[in-house]
Amino acid sequence: MKLGIVGSEAAKFTVRTEELARDLIADLLDHGENISDLHIFSGDCHLGGIDQWAREAAELYKIPFTAFPPKNRQWSTGYKPRNIQIAEASDKVICITVKELPPDYKGMKFGLCYHCRTKDHIKSGGCWTVKYAKEKLGKPGEIIVIQEPCYVCGNLEGSCECMFPPEN
Ligand SMILES: [Zn+2]
Ligand SMILES: [Zn+2]
Repeated sequence: MKLGIVGSEAAKFTVRTEELARDLIADLLDHGENISDLHIFSGDCHLGGIDQWAREAAELYKIPFTAFPPKNRQWSTGYKPRNIQIAEASDKVICITVKELPPDYKGMKFGLCYHCRTKDHIKSGGCWTVKYAKEKLGKPGEIIVIQEPCYVCGNLEGSCECMFPPEN
């Protein structure tokens, strides 16, 4: 399996969501008997995050890894052709992003992920790559959204009622 792993940069994660993202990547790479067929492709983002954590996990598990750094930091001549390279190289593309930005995030903010047209997660360039793989190349793609666990009960699904107990 040639797996593309892309997603958000490091500043978009908290200490806890980074930990969850790293665990998730480790699970994706730790495929037991299929592990010898695995090859990971990623984007080598200069801001770290998923691209870097995928590289570290691949090195740890001794899985072949190829990074596609953008030629420059422009969309049309840098990121876009780079994202297409990742989609073309991969059998499947997974984008890992977060539900919400950390409270101290200083970068640009958008009200929704305009690639996916949803408010379920923050905008990620990785979503563009997943969309391209699915819609232009007919390959499977997946967007995995990580969220901060409830700080009362540790629930990861956002489905607990700790903060907003039902009214009697
Ligand atoms: Zn998205
Ligand atoms: Zn809770």
